[in-house]
Amino acid sequence: MNIKNVTVAGSGVLGYQIAFQTAFHGFKVTVYDINDEVLEKAKSKFDTLANAYKRDLNANDEQLNNTFQNLQYNSNLAEAVKNADLVIEAIPENLASKFSFYKQLANLAPEKTLFATNSSTLLPSMFAQATGRPKKFCALHFANTIWINNTAEIMGHSETSKETFDTIVDFAKAIGMVTLPLHKEQPGYILNSLLVPFLSAATNLLINEVSDIETIDKTWMIATGAPIGPFAILDIVGITTAYNINQMAAQKTNDPLKIKTVEYLKQHFIDQNKLGVATGEGFYKYPNPAYKDKDFLK
Ligand code: NAD
Repeated sequence: MNIKNVTVAGSGVLGYQIAFQTAFHGFKVTVYDINDEVLEKAKSKFDTLANAYKRDLNANDEQLNNTFQNLQYNSNLAEAVKNADLVIEAIPENLASKFSFYKQLANLAPEKTLFATNSSTLLPSMFAQATGRPKKFCALHFANTIWINNTAEIMGHSETSKETFDTIVDFAKAIGMVTLPLHKEQPGYILNSLLVPFLSAATNLLINEVSDIETIDKTWMIATGAPIGPFAILDIVGITTAYNINQMAAQKTNDPLKIKTVEYLKQHFIDQNKLGVATGEGFYKYPNPAYKDKDFLK
């Protein structure tokens, strides 16, 4: 199937980036959100994003003008999807919201339209039936700062057709992504299946008082040649995300170690607004964190 018109539903942190990246690569994009006020906010964020494309990708004025020409806005779902070959959903990470969105979308989108969810933690099978077209639905998961961290994890559910999957892989390539196909459903995709246990192992070492932040990072960096260690990664991801993940795990398992981790993160970081790189301090102080010091690995 040939994708030309793409509707991006949700213009928040990820949605507006997906819309801009798609328009930048020559597709006609309609940005849809719950009302015009939110859409106006997205429009104003596109100017800042255009500067980032200039700075990071050497994008020229012609490319950026074309990108803006390719973008349209609509807060009426029926109108926003009436010509869509593909709808990429980037609405909040809440099963009930996604479920009701897809129920509505199922009745309004043309039969040809493929649907893809950008959900990070929910599986496509959880709302495939609500789409009314499970064969034409899969996950297409981007990373934050999509124009630099250009990965796209593509994951179907048991009923996704091969044609849909292959079309989404081709589309992702066409918008400049490195495609990472998954052959079956996996909570956390590939990246978080690796990263969450890794970061959790690092915090366990700290909370169990086995070792300290810098020693743990240093061990990983020297032993594997990685440029940063787990606590530096946590600062980049943001400590709020780590806190939320640990809190969910603590509630689910009642594991005393997880409960202790939640308390530790709250007391030392969340309550002090030390949330990582974004606030200038987390496990390290920025802009010159200790792990970048030339003597750190000695
Ligand atoms: P966000 O809260 O920043 O933005 C969500 C947007 O959706 C808002 O603009 C909101 O007005 C809009 N919205 C709410 N209900 C809607 C509806 N019914 N129809 C249309 N729009 C609606 O969220 P986000 O961080 O961009 O996350 C969106 C999705 O992307 C989530 O599924 C999340 O898991 C996924 N994701 C996020 C990141 C990240 O780093 N933030 C990374 C990868 C994937």
